Amino acid sequence: MTPEEFRRHGYQAIDWIADYLAHPGRYPVLARVAPGQLTDALPAEGPERGEPMETILADFERLVVPAVTHWNHPGFMAYFGISASEPGILGELLATALNLNGMLWKSAPAVTELEQVALRWLRQWTGLPEDWFGCIYDTASIGSMHAIAAARHAAVPESRTRGTPQGLVVYTSEQAHSSIEKGAIAVGIGQDYVRKTPVDSEFRMRPDALAAAIERDLAAGLRPCCVCATVGTTSTTSVDPVPAIAEICERYAIWLHVDAAYAGSIMLAPEFRWAFAGCERADSLVTNPHKWLLTPVDCSVFYTRRPDVLRAAFSLIPEYLRTADDPRAVNLMDYGVPLGRRFRALKLWFVMRYFGREGLADILREHVRLAQELARRIDADPRFARTAPTPFSVVCFRCKGTDDENRRIQERVNASGEIFMSGTVLNGRFTLRLAIGNQATTSAHVERAWELVREAAG
Ligand code: PLP
Repeated sequence: MTPEEFRRHGYQAIDWIADYLAHPGRYPVLARVAPGQLTDALPAEGPERGEPMETILADFERLVVPAVTHWNHPGFMAYFGISASEPGILGELLATALNLNGMLWKSAPAVTELEQVALRWLRQWTGLPEDWFGCIYDTASIGSMHAIAAARHAAVPESRTRGTPQGLVVYTSEQAHSSIEKGAIAVGIGQDYVRKTPVDSEFRMRPDALAAAIERDLAAGLRPCCVCATVGTTSTTSVDPVPAIAEICERYAIWLHVDAAYAGSIMLAPEFRWAFAGCERADSLVTNPHKWLLTPVDCSVFYTRRPDVLRAAFSLIPEYLRTADDPRAVNLMDYGVPLGRRFRALKLWFVMRYFGREGLADILREHVRLAQELARRIDADPRFARTAPTPFSVVCFRCKGTDDENRRIQERVNASGEIFMSGTVLNGRFTLRLAIGNQATTSAHVERAWELVREAAG
């Protein structure tokens, strides 16, 4: 492609993105395609000869876009609402153009150092300890897997060379994300050795149950090695009592990992810092700017107080990657499984600089305000009831009817094309769940969602 052609198609693509971001609401939020429809619409085999960019871009719009569920849509209120903000998109674009691979400081000084700078700012903004080490992985699932691997190494250093001994145990709550269990599977601890402790009436891990489970396992000759607490659980955004959990971990010398994938971002607003109480005593913590910090997928931040352990668990330097030792030249490949890594810090740094801490905090505060407003409306309607507290921007509720009735409400709302909401099961009953987190979502969208829910309830 010549520079002139690149410029022309580049402008076309940017124009498309600008229009899209200006009017994401003109598409149905939930893709209206059947499984296999896109596959069938595309040739079974790739082209022998190159095709013109015009044709490729036209097919993107004609075939690919209809198969998109629009996470950028203001009516996207399923899972966790997220936004690819404009500065984040530009950061991603430039990172892609540079095509850096940040395995070593030498291979990409900018990747290594900008990652350290952006994560230092984020640590300051969220009130986490100054001396923690941070790095960026693709997802929280991978961050938590590395936490469990580090915990395993802290408990049994020989596991690096001999493999995971049987009988190591990981503790989390029954409301924790499935990634914790997957992490235990991946590092060879095994699903049978993941204890999902019961929660209290507000879906928070019960420290007494945690301590009892640890005691039982010790009496049985097992080796507790990691506790994963959650600040902002997936279903209800409940906050585990981290101070009490940290005390237990310190008493038994167990690695404490905190999964703050969703709620970590709101710590930018000091009035929400209560939810990070005790996290400064954790050994590691993960939070996802790609969830609630306007940063395009993927960008998940992993912090640890004990980078030496993570490094001891994973550092393996083949000759071709050996470089001179310099304490300021961090080699990110030493801190986990991936060798190569994308320049994810650039988009995060763009987002942080463009909005500033206060600007980001204000956007997130507004999401919380919208959720609280919806919660009040639900509480005031005798046909509905909330099924969990609403500490942040996710509202769990149900119509006072059967599970089937509630599932039908969800289906009807989602069929509207205006709103996409998900559901969950709490105390054995299906519950509706509305998550606000998109920068384009306004009170009008939330009002419309509530209107559609009430209409669907009949
Ligand atoms: N932890 C929590 C609390 C989550 O809610 C999620 C996803 O929603 C994850 C972890 C997994 O995140 P990721 O997709 O980045 O692996």
